[in-house]
Amino acid sequence: MTTAGIAVDVATNLAQVRERMAAAARRAGRSLDEVTLVAVTKTKPPALIRQAMAAGQLDFGENLVEEAWAKFLDPANPDAVGAAGAAFRLHLIGPIQSRKAALAVACRPILIHAVDRLKIARRLDRFAAEAGLAALDVLLEVNVSGEASKFGYSPESIWGEVEAILALPHVRIRGLMTVPPYDPDPEAARPHFAALRRLRDRLAARWPEADWRHLSMGMSHDFEVAIEEGATLVRVGTAIFGPR
Ligand SMILES: *Cc1c(COP(=O)(O)O)cnc(C)c1O
Repeated sequence: MTTAGIAVDVATNLAQVRERMAAAARRAGRSLDEVTLVAVTKTKPPALIRQAMAAGQLDFGENLVEEAWAKFLDPANPDAVGAAGAAFRLHLIGPIQSRKAALAVACRPILIHAVDRLKIARRLDRFAAEAGLAALDVLLEVNVSGEASKFGYSPESIWGEVEAILALPHVRIRGLMTVPPYDPDPEAARPHFAALRRLRDRLAARWPEADWRHLSMGMSHDFEVAIEEGATLVRVGTAIFGPR
Protein backbone atom coordinates (compact mmCIF):
# COMPACT_ATOMS: atom_id res chain seq x y z
CA MET A 1 0.00 0.00 0.00
CA THR A 2 1.37 3.40 -0.90
CA THR A 3 0.25 6.85 0.09
CA ALA A 4 1.66 9.84 -1.76
CA GLY A 5 4.23 7.48 -3.26
CA ILE A 6 5.53 6.35 0.12
CA ALA A 7 5.23 2.69 1.11
CA VAL A 8 3.39 2.30 4.41
CA ASP A 9 3.59 -0.82 6.55
CA VAL A 10 0.66 -0.18 8.87
CA ALA A 11 1.08 -3.33 10.96
CA THR A 12 4.76 -2.61 11.67
CA ASN A 13 4.07 1.06 12.42
CA LEU A 14 1.27 0.09 14.79
CA ALA A 15 3.49 -2.37 16.61
CA GLN A 16 6.17 0.31 17.00
CA VAL A 17 3.70 2.89 18.29
CA ARG A 18 2.28 0.39 20.79
CA GLU A 19 5.82 -0.47 21.94
CA ARG A 20 6.66 3.22 22.43
CA MET A 21 3.38 3.68 24.33
CA ALA A 22 4.27 0.78 26.61
CA ALA A 23 7.72 2.21 27.31
CA ALA A 24 6.26 5.63 28.13
CA ALA A 25 3.69 4.06 30.45
CA ARG A 26 6.44 2.10 32.21
CA ARG A 27 8.52 5.27 32.69
CA ALA A 28 5.51 6.94 34.29
CA GLY A 29 4.65 3.92 36.45
CA ARG A 30 1.32 3.60 34.66
CA SER A 31 -0.45 0.60 33.20
CA LEU A 32 -0.80 0.57 29.42
CA ASP A 33 -4.39 -0.55 29.98
CA GLU A 34 -5.14 3.03 31.05
CA VAL A 35 -4.23 4.40 27.61
CA THR A 36 -6.25 3.93 24.42
CA LEU A 37 -4.56 4.38 21.06
CA VAL A 38 -6.88 6.22 18.67
CA ALA A 39 -5.58 5.66 15.13
CA VAL A 40 -6.27 8.86 13.22
CA THR A 41 -7.34 8.02 9.66
CA LYS A 42 -8.17 11.41 8.17
CA THR A 43 -7.40 11.56 4.42
CA LYS A 44 -6.54 7.81 4.45
CA PRO A 45 -8.55 5.26 2.43
CA PRO A 46 -10.59 2.37 3.86
CA ALA A 47 -8.05 -0.14 2.51
CA LEU A 48 -5.40 1.27 4.81
CA ILE A 49 -7.85 1.37 7.73
CA ARG A 50 -8.63 -2.31 7.17
CA GLN A 51 -4.89 -3.07 7.43
CA ALA A 52 -4.89 -1.50 10.88
CA MET A 53 -7.97 -3.50 11.84
CA ALA A 54 -6.30 -6.69 10.68
CA ALA A 55 -3.44 -5.78 13.04
CA GLY A 56 -5.88 -5.60 15.95
CA GLN A 57 -6.61 -1.85 16.01
CA LEU A 58 -10.14 -1.09 17.20
CA ASP A 59 -10.26 2.67 17.89
CA PHE A 60 -10.19 5.10 14.96
CA GLY A 61 -10.36 8.88 14.85
CA GLU A 62 -11.57 11.25 12.15
CA ASN A 63 -11.61 15.02 12.42
CA LEU A 64 -14.28 15.70 9.78
CA VAL A 65 -17.75 14.32 10.43
CA GLU A 66 -18.64 13.92 6.75
CA GLU A 67 -15.43 12.03 6.03
CA ALA A 68 -16.04 9.75 9.01
CA TRP A 69 -19.55 8.98 7.79
CA ALA A 70 -18.46 8.38 4.18
CA LYS A 71 -15.49 6.13 4.98
CA PHE A 72 -16.83 4.15 7.92
CA LEU A 73 -20.60 4.09 7.79
CA ASP A 74 -22.32 5.35 4.64
CA PRO A 75 -24.60 2.50 3.52
CA ALA A 76 -24.27 3.82 -0.04
CA ASN A 77 -20.51 3.18 0.04
CA PRO A 78 -19.72 -0.49 -0.63
CA ASP A 79 -16.09 0.20 0.36
CA ALA A 80 -17.07 1.62 3.77
CA VAL A 81 -15.05 0.15 6.64
CA GLY A 82 -18.23 -0.93 8.43
CA ALA A 83 -19.89 -2.41 5.34
CA ALA A 84 -18.86 -6.00 6.13
CA GLY A 85 -20.03 -5.73 9.73
CA ALA A 86 -16.49 -5.11 10.93
CA ALA A 87 -16.07 -4.06 14.56
CA PHE A 88 -14.57 -0.64 15.22
CA ARG A 89 -14.97 2.29 17.57
CA LEU A 90 -15.21 5.67 15.94
CA HIS A 91 -13.89 8.79 17.68
CA LEU A 92 -14.76 12.22 16.32
CA ILE A 93 -11.69 14.26 17.21
CA GLY A 94 -12.27 17.55 15.37
CA PRO A 95 -14.47 20.54 16.17
CA ILE A 96 -18.15 19.84 15.42
CA GLN A 97 -19.89 22.49 13.34
CA SER A 98 -23.48 23.23 14.23
CA ARG A 99 -24.87 21.93 10.97
CA LYS A 100 -22.90 18.68 11.32
CA ALA A 101 -24.22 17.82 14.79
CA ALA A 102 -26.95 15.50 13.48
CA LEU A 103 -24.51 13.58 11.27
CA ALA A 104 -22.05 13.40 14.16
CA VAL A 105 -24.70 11.66 16.26
CA ALA A 106 -25.61 9.39 13.32
CA CYS A 107 -21.97 8.21 13.35
CA ARG A 108 -22.67 6.73 16.83
CA PRO A 109 -19.20 7.76 18.00
CA ILE A 110 -17.78 6.06 21.04
CA LEU A 111 -16.50 9.52 22.01
CA ILE A 112 -16.65 13.10 20.69
CA HIS A 113 -13.34 14.70 21.68
CA ALA A 114 -13.70 18.38 20.92
CA VAL A 115 -16.86 20.01 22.29
CA ASP A 116 -15.98 23.66 22.80
CA ARG A 117 -19.31 25.50 22.99
CA LEU A 118 -22.52 25.08 24.93
CA LYS A 119 -24.42 25.57 21.68
CA ILE A 120 -22.82 22.43 20.19
CA ALA A 121 -23.39 20.44 23.36
CA ARG A 122 -27.07 21.43 23.23
CA ARG A 123 -27.43 20.38 19.60
CA LEU A 124 -25.71 17.06 20.28
CA ASP A 125 -28.04 16.55 23.21
CA ARG A 126 -31.07 17.22 21.06
CA PHE A 127 -30.03 14.84 18.27
CA ALA A 128 -28.95 12.18 20.75
CA ALA A 129 -32.42 12.37 22.32
CA GLU A 130 -34.07 12.10 18.91
CA ALA A 131 -31.90 9.08 18.11
CA GLY A 132 -32.92 7.44 21.38
CA LEU A 133 -29.38 7.44 22.79
CA ALA A 134 -29.20 7.33 26.57
CA ALA A 135 -25.91 9.20 26.58
CA LEU A 136 -23.43 10.60 24.13
CA ASP A 137 -19.94 10.72 25.63
CA VAL A 138 -17.98 13.91 25.05
CA LEU A 139 -14.75 15.59 26.06
CA LEU A 140 -14.42 19.35 26.41
CA GLU A 141 -11.60 20.82 24.36
CA VAL A 142 -9.40 23.30 26.18
CA ASN A 143 -6.87 25.62 24.60
CA VAL A 144 -4.42 25.50 27.51
CA SER A 145 -1.67 27.42 25.73
CA GLY A 146 -3.78 30.46 24.92
CA GLU A 147 -2.62 30.26 21.29
CA ALA A 148 -4.89 32.67 19.41
CA SER A 149 -5.66 30.48 16.38
CA LYS A 150 -6.87 27.51 18.39
CA PHE A 151 -10.27 26.00 19.03
CA GLY A 152 -11.36 25.19 22.53
CA TYR A 153 -12.37 26.76 25.80
CA SER A 154 -9.85 28.87 27.60
CA PRO A 155 -8.91 27.48 31.04
CA GLU A 156 -11.06 30.32 32.43
CA SER A 157 -14.11 30.21 30.16
CA ILE A 158 -14.78 26.49 30.66
CA TRP A 159 -15.88 27.07 34.26
CA GLY A 160 -18.94 29.04 33.18
CA GLU A 161 -20.35 26.30 30.94
CA VAL A 162 -19.78 23.03 32.76
CA GLU A 163 -22.91 23.36 34.88
CA ALA A 164 -25.14 23.84 31.82
CA ILE A 165 -23.53 20.92 29.96
CA LEU A 166 -23.88 18.65 32.98
CA ALA A 167 -27.59 19.48 32.98
CA LEU A 168 -28.06 18.10 29.45
CA PRO A 169 -29.68 14.68 29.84
CA HIS A 170 -28.24 12.98 26.74
CA VAL A 171 -24.68 14.33 26.78
CA ARG A 172 -22.15 13.02 29.28
CA ILE A 173 -18.85 14.71 30.03
CA ARG A 174 -15.99 12.20 30.29
CA GLY A 175 -12.96 14.50 30.50
CA LEU A 176 -10.83 17.00 28.59
CA MET A 177 -8.93 17.20 25.32
CA THR A 178 -6.22 19.53 24.04
CA VAL A 179 -4.05 20.20 21.01
CA PRO A 180 -0.97 22.17 22.06
CA PRO A 181 0.77 24.51 19.60
CA TYR A 182 2.91 22.53 17.18
CA ASP A 183 6.55 22.35 18.18
CA PRO A 184 8.96 19.78 16.72
CA ASP A 185 10.38 19.30 20.21
CA PRO A 186 7.94 17.01 22.06
CA GLU A 187 9.16 18.38 25.41
CA ALA A 188 7.63 21.74 24.48
CA ALA A 189 4.19 20.14 24.84
CA ARG A 190 4.82 18.85 28.36
CA PRO A 191 3.75 21.98 30.28
CA HIS A 192 0.53 22.13 28.23
CA PHE A 193 -0.28 18.48 28.93
CA ALA A 194 0.45 18.99 32.63
CA ALA A 195 -1.76 22.10 32.63
CA LEU A 196 -4.66 20.11 31.13
CA ARG A 197 -4.27 17.45 33.81
CA ARG A 198 -4.24 20.05 36.60
CA LEU A 199 -7.30 21.78 35.14
CA ARG A 200 -9.07 18.42 35.00
CA ASP A 201 -8.21 17.77 38.65
CA ARG A 202 -9.66 21.15 39.65
CA LEU A 203 -12.84 20.60 37.63
CA ALA A 204 -13.23 17.15 39.17
CA ALA A 205 -12.88 18.65 42.64
CA ARG A 206 -15.58 21.21 41.84
CA TRP A 207 -17.96 18.73 40.11
CA PRO A 208 -17.19 15.34 41.69
CA GLU A 209 -20.56 14.01 40.48
CA ALA A 210 -19.26 14.05 36.88
CA ASP A 211 -16.78 11.66 35.30
CA TRP A 212 -13.55 13.48 34.43
CA ARG A 213 -11.35 10.43 33.92
CA HIS A 214 -10.25 11.02 30.34
CA LEU A 215 -7.43 13.19 29.04
CA SER A 216 -7.18 13.10 25.24
CA MET A 217 -3.74 14.51 24.46
CA GLY A 218 -0.70 13.56 22.41
CA MET A 219 -0.21 13.08 18.66
CA SER A 220 2.46 11.38 16.52
CA HIS A 221 5.36 13.54 17.65
CA ASP A 222 4.50 13.90 21.34
CA PHE A 223 2.32 10.98 22.47
CA GLU A 224 5.02 9.59 24.74
CA VAL A 225 5.26 12.85 26.69
CA ALA A 226 1.46 12.94 26.86
CA ILE A 227 1.36 9.44 28.37
CA GLU A 228 3.98 10.47 30.92
CA GLU A 229 1.69 13.40 31.82
CA GLY A 230 -1.44 11.30 32.23
CA ALA A 231 -3.07 10.89 28.80
CA THR A 232 -5.77 8.21 28.67
CA LEU A 233 -6.31 8.65 24.93
CA VAL A 234 -3.59 9.44 22.38
CA ARG A 235 -4.54 10.43 18.82
CA VAL A 236 -1.91 9.16 16.41
CA GLY A 237 -2.11 9.44 12.62
CA THR A 238 1.17 10.03 10.79
CA ALA A 239 3.22 7.56 12.85
CA ILE A 240 0.80 4.79 11.81
CA PHE A 241 -0.40 5.69 8.33
CA GLY A 242 2.42 7.88 7.02
CA PRO A 243 2.39 11.54 6.04
CA ARG A 244 -0.74 13.17 4.70
C1 LIG B 1 -4.80 14.90 12.60
C2 LIG B 1 -5.05 14.93 14.05
C3 LIG B 1 -4.28 14.14 14.91
C4 LIG B 1 -3.17 13.20 14.46
O1 LIG B 1 -2.06 13.94 14.07
P1 LIG B 1 -0.67 13.19 13.70
O2 LIG B 1 0.34 14.24 13.89
O3 LIG B 1 -0.81 12.76 12.28
O4 LIG B 1 -0.51 12.06 14.62
C5 LIG B 1 -4.58 14.21 16.28
N1 LIG B 1 -5.55 15.02 16.76
C6 LIG B 1 -6.29 15.80 15.94
C7 LIG B 1 -7.35 16.66 16.55
C8 LIG B 1 -6.08 15.78 14.57
O5 LIG B 1 -6.82 16.56 13.77
